[in-house]
Amino acid sequence: MRFEGSFLGANDKISPQAIMECKICWTPYDPAEGDDTRQVMPGTPFLALPDDWKCPNCDAPKEQFLVSEDPGSDAAQDAGMIAERTTLLETDFTEVWHDKMRDVPIVNKALHVQAVGFRMHDGRPLGVLISPWFMNLVQLPAQGEDWTDLNPGAKEHLDFASGEYEFIHNVRQMVGGYKACSLFSPMNEFKTQAQAVDVAEAVMVALFDEGNRAETDRAGDIRAAREEQIAVAEAAEAEQADDAAPVLGDAPSRREVITAGLSDPARDEG
Ligand code: FE
Repeated sequence: MRFEGSFLGANDKISPQAIMECKICWTPYDPAEGDDTRQVMPGTPFLALPDDWKCPNCDAPKEQFLVSEDPGSDAAQDAGMIAERTTLLETDFTEVWHDKMRDVPIVNKALHVQAVGFRMHDGRPLGVLISPWFMNLVQLPAQGEDWTDLNPGAKEHLDFASGEYEFIHNVRQMVGGYKACSLFSPMNEFKTQAQAVDVAEAVMVALFDEGNRAETDRAGDIRAAREEQIAVAEAAEAEQADDAAPVLGDAPSRREVITAGLSDPARDEG
């Protein structure tokens, strides 16, 4: 079968979520709705329609349909781009770890470099980068956007649902330009990589939670929300670890770890 138009006849370029449109009469085929006139069930991808399926309005053959919108393909493209860019980020900082940081006293050797929770936000990849010596919120440039001439050390405030955060510009050879907001540094309070990943994921949730926005103490609010989330995870963990650690109450709680470690923007000004 050959499709004419925007996807050059290649079936593999459209995803099961693709919404198609008749080239002759502009009648759409939306897989979420199916096609009543030919008893096609909702949830049937365009590619799964019978070969003799025709436009419900003008009887044009299937080949006459064009991609109108393909959220599945866009998401797949974004995911591929994010995977590529975060791999560069991890490779770059793993090299720094091995070359320069390994023997520095402040590093936490229980941790390794890992990009967590990266997603597209306003067209740019955004996520958390964990390393043995810092945890940063990191924004990468959009596809085709050139940040190689960013001025390292320059500050910029970026706005999210939960509030405004200070990002520092930086440029590295492999990654190119990026913007980073310090969450934790150093990383000594984290006992395991898994614990650091949990916190990174909680940050990505709290960041987009409008409930964390406050005029006076935004950092305090996001911290409080994160404490709450971690407390839940902690309770679950405590239950599991009950027999192993009978005096849990005396150990430093993860809640304290987060409160102590969150970078205070006021402190960073100095
Ligand atoms: Fe038609």
